[in-house]
Amino acid sequence: MNRCRKCNIDIMDDSIVCPLCKNVLDISDDLKNTDKMGMYKSRSISYPDIVKKRKWIKFVIRLSVFLSIIAEIILVLINYITFKNTLWSIVTGACLAYVCFTIAYSFQRYVSHRAKLAVQVIVAIPLIIIIDRVYGGNGWSINFGIPIMVLVLDLVVFILSMVNFKKCHVYLMVQLTGIIMSFICSIFVIIGRYKVKMLSVVATVVSIIVFMIIVFLGEKKSTSELAKRFRI
Ligand SMILES: [Zn+2]
Repeated sequence: MNRCRKCNIDIMDDSIVCPLCKNVLDISDDLKNTDKMGMYKSRSISYPDIVKKRKWIKFVIRLSVFLSIIAEIILVLINYITFKNTLWSIVTGACLAYVCFTIAYSFQRYVSHRAKLAVQVIVAIPLIIIIDRVYGGNGWSINFGIPIMVLVLDLVVFILSMVNFKKCHVYLMVQLTGIIMSFICSIFVIIGRYKVKMLSVVATVVSIIVFMIIVFLGEKKSTSELAKRFRI
């Protein structure tokens, strides 16, 4: 067995570099597989490149935070210039922060999808409170705020799924959150005292369409992902 001193792990095959940190391994005597020149040769170099993947994820997270900050600066300026008694840029800022949080949190490795779903719904509650404070509790959050947020989420999930359609099933649970949130809004809009506005219904329909696209693209992976999450 070869050993990585940095990660403090044993590698079962005859690799010469650590699959996690790319450090050169300490090669144990019993596995020494040398050629005529006395040089060590490795037969197995088939680990997935984790370092590269992590760098890519970090890049995606940083890019979304960067774009959100720029978008929010522009929106604050527009809000300031065209001010008509609502500070709606607070709402867009909170929504963008939520989208960034969703993207970053969806890449967390040691958290289950169900826990993620719960955390995302919980984090959405202060967002809804902010929205209703800014708009004086007149039903804005369920008529516009949450449906727009869900539509943005649909767009993000759709783009991520298209970019990486072989792994699009990992976004199913995030997409399901969007469906649930917009569906709840639709119910409130339809049965509530507010004038019926169609945006929440549109958001629900779009969410369901994106969800079905992912299920269709992911084929077996999607159905087994759903079965796994709900223990069907
Ligand atoms: Zn290592």
